Amino acid sequence: MGTIDADFADETVVVTGGSSGIGRAVATAFGDAGATVINADVRKDPKDVGAETPTHEAIEERGGIATFVETDVSDPAQIETVIEAAREFGGVDVMVNNAGVHRSREFLDVTPEDFDFVHGVNLKGAFFGTQLAARDMINRGAEGTIVNTSSTTAERAERDHSHYAATKGGIQMLTRSAALELDGYGIRVNAVAPGPIATEIREGWADEARDIDGSGGLPSRAGTPADLRDAYLYLASEGASYVTGETVWVDGGASL
Ligand code: NAD
Repeated sequence: MGTIDADFADETVVVTGGSSGIGRAVATAFGDAGATVINADVRKDPKDVGAETPTHEAIEERGGIATFVETDVSDPAQIETVIEAAREFGGVDVMVNNAGVHRSREFLDVTPEDFDFVHGVNLKGAFFGTQLAARDMINRGAEGTIVNTSSTTAERAERDHSHYAATKGGIQMLTRSAALELDGYGIRVNAVAPGPIATEIREGWADEARDIDGSGGLPSRAGTPADLRDAYLYLASEGASYVTGETVWVDGGASL
């Protein structure tokens, strides 16, 4: 099987939640593809086992251009600060709304605080990340693109995921709704829906054993952040110029 070459030279890519896991792999992939990468995360240091170098430094060590802006995506004012930082590099061309949190809770035990925390980061963060990036693209007359991180839980119910799944279901309709309203400005909005990926966010997910139990069901293995990279690069690229409002499922068949 061949490989995909991506060229994002002269483009500025913001990745939220780029310090760890999927976001770190995606940010690094854009850096390798020549983009200027801005990692917008609440914490600079990676949580990934065995990773020590902050993402922007790791990208620079590989010969790329990158910076870190401490950002809590649940606060739209902080997202605006990231967009302003991107203007120093010509303005955001690709916005990846990837930051996410999870708390494993039975439906009957979810508190209003759990709900607000998870919705604030996952759905509000992606909503205003999409809106503020799009406004900036429109103001600059730029035709950028947006990629949101959804999840198989957007369409497949799992125990202990109700409030998290609701944010991902919301991201599905955010992606479609924004794609519809932004198409006239030449802005495409898509999503990637990962299945079970071995990252720190999965600590404590009660159904992990059921997902990957070796019983012949799918997926047959846990995914890795590297499994997601090309889906983000593709959706952000010219090759996907006729693709909008779409979700690419990268889940090893979990949603079958
Ligand atoms: P992760 O915990 O490794 O990474 C999440 C990153 O988001 C971290 O760097 C964290 O610091 C950052 N973050 C958390 N709160 C933030 C905030 N308020 N503002 C900015 N950054 C914040 O997890 P991951 O698995 O890489 O998750 C990335 C995305 O993928 C999330 O949206 C998650 O819901 C989604 N996802 C993950 C899986 C999986 O199995 N790992 C499956 C489906 C979807």
